[in-house]
Amino acid sequence: MPVPTLSEIQDKLRRPLELERAQGCQNRAVAGGMEKLLDNFARPFPKVREALRGYGEMSSEERGAALETALTLLTPAQTAPRAPTRVENRPKLPAEESAGPLPPGTELSKLNFGPGAGKKFTALGLYTLRDVLHNYPRRHEDRRALPSLAQVEDGQKVTVEGVIVSKHRRTPRPGMLILEATLENAWGERVKCTWFNQAWIEKGLREGLKLIVSGRAKRFGKSVQVAVEHMESVGEGGHSLSSGRIIGIYDARDGISQEFVRKAVQTALTRVPPGDYITARWRTQYGLTDLSDALWGMHFPHDEAHLERATARLRFDEYLFLELRVLLQGDDAILMGKRFSATDDDMQQFEASLPFTFTNAQRRVLYEIADDMRGEQQMARLLQGDVGSGKTAVAACALYLAWRDHYQGALMAPTEILARQHYASLQTYLTPLGVRVGLLIGAMTPKLKAEVQARIAAGEVDVVVGTQALIQEAVQWHNLGLAVVDEEHRFGVMQRRKLLTGRPDVLVMSATPIPRSLALTSYGDLELSIIDELPPGRTPIETKLIQDTARRQAYGFVMKQIREGRQAYVVTALIEESDTLELLAATQLADDLKVLLPEARVGLLHGRMSAVEKDAVMEQFRERAFDVLVSTTVIEVGVDVPNATVMVIENAERFGLSQLHQLRGRVGRGSAQSYCVLVAGEHSQKTRKRLKIIESSTDGFVIAEADLKLRGHGELRGTRQSGLDELKLGDLSNDLEIIERARELAKYILRHDPALSHPGLAYLRAELQARSSQVAYREVI
Ligand code: ADP
Ligand code: MG
Repeated sequence: MPVPTLSEIQDKLRRPLELERAQGCQNRAVAGGMEKLLDNFARPFPKVREALRGYGEMSSEERGAALETALTLLTPAQTAPRAPTRVENRPKLPAEESAGPLPPGTELSKLNFGPGAGKKFTALGLYTLRDVLHNYPRRHEDRRALPSLAQVEDGQKVTVEGVIVSKHRRTPRPGMLILEATLENAWGERVKCTWFNQAWIEKGLREGLKLIVSGRAKRFGKSVQVAVEHMESVGEGGHSLSSGRIIGIYDARDGISQEFVRKAVQTALTRVPPGDYITARWRTQYGLTDLSDALWGMHFPHDEAHLERATARLRFDEYLFLELRVLLQGDDAILMGKRFSATDDDMQQFEASLPFTFTNAQRRVLYEIADDMRGEQQMARLLQGDVGSGKTAVAACALYLAWRDHYQGALMAPTEILARQHYASLQTYLTPLGVRVGLLIGAMTPKLKAEVQARIAAGEVDVVVGTQALIQEAVQWHNLGLAVVDEEHRFGVMQRRKLLTGRPDVLVMSATPIPRSLALTSYGDLELSIIDELPPGRTPIETKLIQDTARRQAYGFVMKQIREGRQAYVVTALIEESDTLELLAATQLADDLKVLLPEARVGLLHGRMSAVEKDAVMEQFRERAFDVLVSTTVIEVGVDVPNATVMVIENAERFGLSQLHQLRGRVGRGSAQSYCVLVAGEHSQKTRKRLKIIESSTDGFVIAEADLKLRGHGELRGTRQSGLDELKLGDLSNDLEIIERARELAKYILRHDPALSHPGLAYLRAELQARSSQVAYREVI
């Protein structure tokens, strides 16, 4: 089912409203009343909802007025500003019957594209002229006629323009027909063209006819033969959309020809007036060509340079709108938060209480955080860093700064076991400084919980560590100033940050290093701080990639570690589709290990367990109730068992690099040398190359960059995908610079006009809405 555009939803709303008006405003046009309709369709149009709120209760006069307002709001905006046409930019194309200009939002059904066009456009997901313009070719093909055939290589794709000098048909055997025509180009060179089993071509091949053909070349000594894939005859002075130029190849659908799409694009390009949603001043500042030039260049480029500047411009646009959208998410991009004094003195005081000094990276991010805390806007910052890079220490310092200003702080963790772990470390950091740290988790007795809650409300606890219970159980804060959230993506906390009473500043910590480009696009609503340096004196984990034929030796090594009093993790293959299969694999592996490691005590942890059961198993492992923990990937989250020094990952080829890195981070939590063994089953060269990266690097950001390059952003786990699947031109592994520039512009625009309400931004707003319509519609249903 194609997703309706916003303008289609608009239509769905408009018609019943018109009917209602025609019927004299009796609230009869919609079964169940007007407000029923609004509930179902009007979510993307808050103003319309507002206008018609309480319709049932209105007098008929009020109803009439309300309907007028609503219908005005729903009439498609003629938003495109007009600018002088830059005709000189347009390539020569077949003549297009000219008619008046049309706004980009014009629906395709209002124009005549020939029989069956409506169905075709629907199949392609195109509803307006704008959609057609931004339906970019999947790739481009150079079909400019070659000046000379002399340089053509065997197997090369070529385009030749020439006159038919002779033709020939052959039937080497029954059922096989080969048509041949010899073309002579303007330089007198000859080339033999062939068509295989395409009888219908034959009558079109007349001697003296001028053709443009494209296809794969085959070289026989000096002569060249072309197996024709595309051909057109060249009329008198005519110009073609599909030959003799660099042409775009569009996403194909059955029964829809490339020519149909090209023709529609040409119409759209010719009819839509060449306005631009990025003003001339910004275009100059960011070195961008104008929209009209870019769209022509994307669909019908004159040459490589034209295509290149078109792509650069439209790629910038993709990121601009993506950033605008993430920044506008939940339309509370700019909220007033707390204002802390966060002085350098206080930071130094905190650092002086530590048994170590901060790394440069820690210090840098602390200044970024303190800067936010001093500002009046609500902080919304993502603190990224590898496991063990010292994020918790930084967060503790921020909580200390809040405390110095007499505010309470909260730290939320995704699981109870992690909450307890954070509780322990915050106590070491903060208690000596006089900060009172408390714990609030579901496992506590109701009585104890009530007690802690009462102390929080009375302001007798300064920093509270807990799970989601902190939000869910509607804790009454005395004076919450700063909320730290660990492992954001398991929470979706940004949506919930509104639920945090008192609008505290928010610092999100994530131990999943993701490339900056990806962070800026998928966490665009958060500012970014990165700790890209580990504290000194760490012994890096030694990682070894082995074939599964060497498994026995690997477990021999594991046994040796266990005999030395160490513990081991063994992680089973990732089976995405099925918890049940994953459990089966884990159980099987645990049984295998009991045979392979007869002296070891083996425990099991899997995704079918409840959170409480998982916590219990982890606790037992930490207390050394067993030596080997066989687990599915559920141990990914940061639980510390310092005595565990070795991890074996079975079927490592099935994991993504970042995930392997995350898993590996479970060991090396103590001072002893730690090891990670990747056991690879059947795998390709490419996979081997991928796994080698893990073997050779322990830097999470290096690994994440490599992962992004190798797999593309679509496959990366643990990241929000919102909007990324709409990137048609963007490639996150290469576009960091463009993303940062687009983000800068997006922030500039929103800072000066958070609602994009300035008339000069009408086109930008309309385009943003068009690009967001699918997202908006998903919200409607
Ligand atoms: P993360 O939260 O990023 O996993 P932590 O803040 O828990 O990292 O730090 C991991 C360990 O390193 C802790 O034991 C902490 O005390 C220690 N640590 C943190 N920062 C430093 C530093 N600058 N120098 C030495 N040790 C540090
Ligand atoms: Mg930590």
